[in-house]
Amino acid sequence: MAGLERFLADEAATARLGEDLAMALRPGDVLALKGDLGAGKSTLARALIRALADDTALDVPSPTFTLVQSYDTRVPVHHFDLYRLSSASELDELGFDDALTQGAALVEWPQRAETRMPASALWIELDHQGEARRASLSGQGATFERAARSLAM
Ligand code: ADP
Ligand code: MG
Repeated sequence: MAGLERFLADEAATARLGEDLAMALRPGDVLALKGDLGAGKSTLARALIRALADDTALDVPSPTFTLVQSYDTRVPVHHFDLYRLSSASELDELGFDDALTQGAALVEWPQRAETRMPASALWIELDHQGEARRASLSGQGATFERAARSLAM
């Protein structure tokens, strides 16, 4: 599996990574956002969604309690937070598999749906590095290849 790293010195750097990923995003892409509480998953997702919407002030609430929020953006995007997922059947109620085929999906706490994540998913792991963060991207499909090319530019 190919991999790529980016050092994120501050919140603005995390947001820029989200904006860069938005440029490369296509319908059907699935981004798995791993990392502890406060690692920056929602910060990255919010910046990505705002870039897709071309609206820097768009309200992008964390889907902590709703588990999913959907946006009718350039590429329609479903933003999941599975931290509070109680069972696999709840994923069906959320229309998880359908969402993955309609537009793109950003999934916080993808470990909760590990067996349901497509093999083509782009995995983004955010780690604390002192006060800063480090993003490690990996994947084995077109989504990773496209993102890697886009980030290298
Ligand atoms: P998560 O969704 O992973 O729980 P959030 O995005 O909600 O995390 O919160 C991340 C917190 O860390 C926010 O307070 C944000 O300002 C801060 N943050 C994000 N990226 C960085 C960074 N690269 N360096 C330092 N702080 C960051
Ligand atoms: Mg979050």
